[in-house]
Amino acid sequence: MSIEIRNVTKRFGSFTALDNVSLDVPTGQLVALLGPSGSGKTTLLRAIAGLDPPDHGEIRDHGADVTRLGTRDRNVGFVFQHFALFPHLDVFENIAFALRVRKRPNAEVQERVRELVALIQLEGMEHRRPAELSGGQRQRVALARALAAKPRVLLLDEPFSALDARVRHGLRRWLRKLHDELGTTCVFVTHDQEEAFELADSVVIFHAGRVAQLGSPAEVFQTPANAFVADFLGGTNKLAGQVARGQFHAGGQTWPQRLPDGPATAFLRHGDIELTAERPTDRPALAVRVTRVRSNGPRTQAELRTLLDNLLLMAELAQDRPLAVGTELWATPRKLHVFTDVPGEPGRGEMEEPVTWGEFI
Ligand code: ADP
Ligand code: MG
Repeated sequence: MSIEIRNVTKRFGSFTALDNVSLDVPTGQLVALLGPSGSGKTTLLRAIAGLDPPDHGEIRDHGADVTRLGTRDRNVGFVFQHFALFPHLDVFENIAFALRVRKRPNAEVQERVRELVALIQLEGMEHRRPAELSGGQRQRVALARALAAKPRVLLLDEPFSALDARVRHGLRRWLRKLHDELGTTCVFVTHDQEEAFELADSVVIFHAGRVAQLGSPAEVFQTPANAFVADFLGGTNKLAGQVARGQFHAGGQTWPQRLPDGPATAFLRHGDIELTAERPTDRPALAVRVTRVRSNGPRTQAELRTLLDNLLLMAELAQDRPLAVGTELWATPRKLHVFTDVPGEPGRGEMEEPVTWGEFI
């Protein structure tokens, strides 16, 4: 195991930024820390970097306790969101910086920097200043600089978020390829779900200083552990209802459910709705009217209203047949994730609940 975080808590005054966080980063993996702004991602990354030690808990690196070690004594490299290159140094000297600080012999510096310049594909630009580079090129230099001293762990805090979409997508693929080639363990912070899911071997979802869920992108997507994750991943409809005696009741239908009795909310993905003209005989379905149709390329987005209580449902369909506004159809959920409501907060499942999702097919 590369990095082990055990029960880490960090407070700023009376505010708890990290609340008893535990997680492992396996050697050679790329792990994404994903969560809304203010959920504690940067605070955890800074603790791993040795920039800001936690108040409680332990951080281990390849088995050794590094909780109180400073950055200099850790084998980590980092890249931050804002270009932190030295403006007065050229590309070569920016990349060489960590080696110069470590007083490496000049021949070694020359060779290592040449290697890294080739890796980031900036040959011929060694003597440019950061101001003479594009944003994407600057972040590649920042990455080469972080890699110069051959860190065992690379920490990246939203490194591409200041770049425009096209450059960001290109750099994302490039980073994944680089990671696969070098095998360096990476911890990558992002608030962008698509970025996390495209890049990472595993994803840690943060919510208010706690780990809301940890798993592979597929696990997190297919089986959200709580209402926060289901909601955060987006693209879902919410159905407010009640659980009673092993059944979830909503929209005039019932679905089998293992949750305790009480108010609950079901999350239904836009892509998990089947639309048919005939009422299915084997599964609960909602009678709906098509109120709006929007087509973007290969997918069709349909806005539906349930006939019984005028509930809004969004459905995403493969564009295999035309849908006319006004048509009445049956909407069958393929998969429903149901979570008990927190009192007074419908649609906000308990974080402490283990896995309370209910599934039926
Ligand atoms: P994220 O990176 O997920 O957006 P951060 O880890 O930066 O979140 O911050 C988590 C919370 O801790 C935020 O509410 C932020 O305002 C607070 N925080 C972070 N650093 C400090 C600090 N040095 N002093 C006071 N509050 C801080
Ligand atoms: Mg941050």
